Amino acid sequence: MGPGEDTPRLSLGLDIGGTNITGLVIDGDDRVCASVTLPTRHGEQGLRESVAAVADAVASAVGTTPATFATVGVGLPGIVDQASGDVSHAVNLGIDQTNIPALLADVFTAPVVAENDVKATALGIAHVMDDVSDLTYLNIGTGVAVAVIVGGRLVRGVSNGAGEIGHFSVDAQGEWCACGQRGCLETVAGGRGLWKRLAAIGADIETLDSDTRPEAVHERETFIDALCQVAALIAVAYDPAVIALGGGVVHAAWIHPALVASLRERATGSPLLTSLAIADRLRGVPDEVPAGALGAAIVGRCSWSGA
Ligand SMILES: [Zn+2]
Repeated sequence: MGPGEDTPRLSLGLDIGGTNITGLVIDGDDRVCASVTLPTRHGEQGLRESVAAVADAVASAVGTTPATFATVGVGLPGIVDQASGDVSHAVNLGIDQTNIPALLADVFTAPVVAENDVKATALGIAHVMDDVSDLTYLNIGTGVAVAVIVGGRLVRGVSNGAGEIGHFSVDAQGEWCACGQRGCLETVAGGRGLWKRLAAIGADIETLDSDTRPEAVHERETFIDALCQVAALIAVAYDPAVIALGGGVVHAAWIHPALVASLRERATGSPLLTSLAIADRLRGVPDEVPAGALGAAIVGRCSWSGA
């Protein structure tokens, strides 16, 4: 703290999901001071009110008010233009198009910076993993996406669409996807398609590994096969030190070991796959800190400092 600065410089990160919003405060040394999670209300007005409620709660947990946060970063689903704060296709929030800084202008004094939630989460994970500079975060949720950090910088692409691999087709004869293609990765491994197929055969993701019925075995093998393909694609495309696997679909305890075993089996007999050692790069998302909200706080602070 410099001369004259008698209050700590606090940064707020908000991870906005379709169900909950997590607010997290870090100090100038990146220590987590507090975090609070409350339900998300949908639509622009609902979102503004629920963000204000989280900001109030987490601010009071550190003995202050939302007006004192030095920086504010927001991670949310959809295509996010980080420079302007424009968000589109945030369907999980009941919002087609909005501008986040404008929407939250009367909640905070500090400028608000928005980022796609998967990209913000990747920054949070990289930070928890001792600032690993080359990391790809593979998010298997309702949809499927990756966020790529190369040399310590997020890859956003020219139109902020980098990492939207859910609509990469892995099966030309597969199910039709809402995007107009067949066999998109998202139809195979994403929650929306997977839950529907599992429900149709009376199966459950938590117990899918011990379900010996042929239709359940088929679902399990197809799912793990898709994850193996995307892990291999990530390894050859970006050569990251870490492939972090997270998202609502991959919480079941059997998935990580099954994926590691399958990747090792595929590498047998292939000097290339053996040398890539993809299984050794695979990590879960650290659960000691809410990585999405931490990443959002980092987004807000880095943007403000011009980094
Ligand atoms: Zn698609």
